[in-house]
Amino acid sequence: MSQDPRPPKRQRTSLSGEDSSENSAVGLKRSEEFWIEDGNIVLIASGETAFRVYRGLLALQSTVFADLFASSSPSAEERYDECPVIRLTDSPQDLAHLLRALLPTSRASLYRSRGDPPLSIHQISAIVRLAHKYHVEDLLRQALSALKDTFTSSFKAFDEGFLDLPVNINTMAPLSIAVVNLARLTETLAVLPLALYTCCGHGPTVIDGWERDDGTTEYLSAADLKRCIGARETLAKEAFSLVSAIFNPKPSNDCATPAPCHTALRMTLMKVLETDNVAEPWVLDPWAPFIRDNGQPEHGAGYCYACQRELLERDIKERRRIWDRLPEIFDVEVPNWNEGPEPQGGQGGGENPDANGGQ
Ligand SMILES: [Zn+2]
Repeated sequence: MSQDPRPPKRQRTSLSGEDSSENSAVGLKRSEEFWIEDGNIVLIASGETAFRVYRGLLALQSTVFADLFASSSPSAEERYDECPVIRLTDSPQDLAHLLRALLPTSRASLYRSRGDPPLSIHQISAIVRLAHKYHVEDLLRQALSALKDTFTSSFKAFDEGFLDLPVNINTMAPLSIAVVNLARLTETLAVLPLALYTCCGHGPTVIDGWERDDGTTEYLSAADLKRCIGARETLAKEAFSLVSAIFNPKPSNDCATPAPCHTALRMTLMKVLETDNVAEPWVLDPWAPFIRDNGQPEHGAGYCYACQRELLERDIKERRRIWDRLPEIFDVEVPNWNEGPEPQGGQGGGENPDANGGQ
């Protein structure tokens, strides 16, 4: 099948509403992944890449596609390789992410089990935006569910932190910018506090935005950027009050050796205050690894087991106290924050997205 040499006709169907006359088939690139020989509709993304797919299958899954196809009358429309053409404003990368989920050609998936590769933020971002735009309800629900398990509202899930989160957030890129924007788009408020917290932790670089895999950059809205900047100071203060409470040198009531433990705990507090990360905004990172290490007399201060247990309990208590305040700190209203059911197993819980494994 060769590329249609006929001059293109006037564009009729575009979600942008633009009446572009530059819709030349010349220079169009066929998608290597989605050029199905007996496909019966051609989708052209951003005027550059053509996808030949099955019209009926898309219409069954998306009411917007169904309406688009129904409203186009093939005889009057632009055609490409004998197929009616629908022009879309989405980038080819975004559209490919959506089509991979709707028309899987290689990896049909029913259930994501533990150990399966996590979804990339690029996949999630494209699928949420396009499934929302084209009303693919079931796919949208699944993608948001993966996002909610990753950017959890449950302190317990966050604190237990599985490595097997459904969305791969193991990157230094400020991908939570995308998560905040997806939450705003779909009114998924539950993911906002942890996503904003993570944005905040990235510091000034969050102003530079996050680059999608189609090369476009998205930014936080001015209002959300203001929330991040405003929260930094609050979190720094909270970090200081948190370490003061956790490393209060008062030995545990169960301590059998209060005098040496008191000395060891004071040494520990001094050591903590000397570290650089006391006032940094990653206030929800656990101190547990430090507390355990430092309890060892060989290379730490050497407090007793009862005192160590006390410090570990304070660590949980203090971080949970701040967790409960996260919506307030970021000025977002989240109904039932930290009160909902714990996420189901298998899809992973929550973990500090940019945790560095403790302090
Ligand atoms: Zn003790």
